[in-house]
Amino acid sequence: MAYLLIILSLLVSCSSRPRIIQIDPQLRPYYDRFVIESRAHGKNASISEIIIEFADLGTNSGLDGSFLNGVCIRQGSSAPTIEINSASISGYSWQDTDDTHKEMVMFHELGHCVLFRVHTTAETNVNNQVIPVSLMAPFLLDETIYSNNREYYLSELFL
Ligand SMILES: [Zn+2]
Repeated sequence: MAYLLIILSLLVSCSSRPRIIQIDPQLRPYYDRFVIESRAHGKNASISEIIIEFADLGTNSGLDGSFLNGVCIRQGSSAPTIEINSASISGYSWQDTDDTHKEMVMFHELGHCVLFRVHTTAETNVNNQVIPVSLMAPFLLDETIYSNNREYYLSELFL
């Protein structure tokens, strides 16, 4: 009987590896803000595992060879991983971007990794202005458009 118990406990420890939450301290405020906004919008995003880190993704790794701000990697049973591009090109480096830019990039990638959202290129009319329907556009939104319509975009993200 003791033998059987040992085998069973081995099986259990093999199948449930430790959960990983590992977030770069510089990116942590945006993760925390995402969780707060998620709750404020009635969606309790359940995050049991995530890795959020900086990585050098190069300067032309975007879909069209443009600069890629970040990426969400979901692979098999590995913890979902967000990599924020630490590469810099003339006129751009993450450190120099403002709070709105950082929020847009982080919320977009968390949209992929946590909310399972995919890209959409649809547009909508808000206050007589045609704007991207979602923060999940395949490109970075214009900061002024995002700031002026932030509540709309958060409601849409946490729909
Ligand atoms: Zn994306």
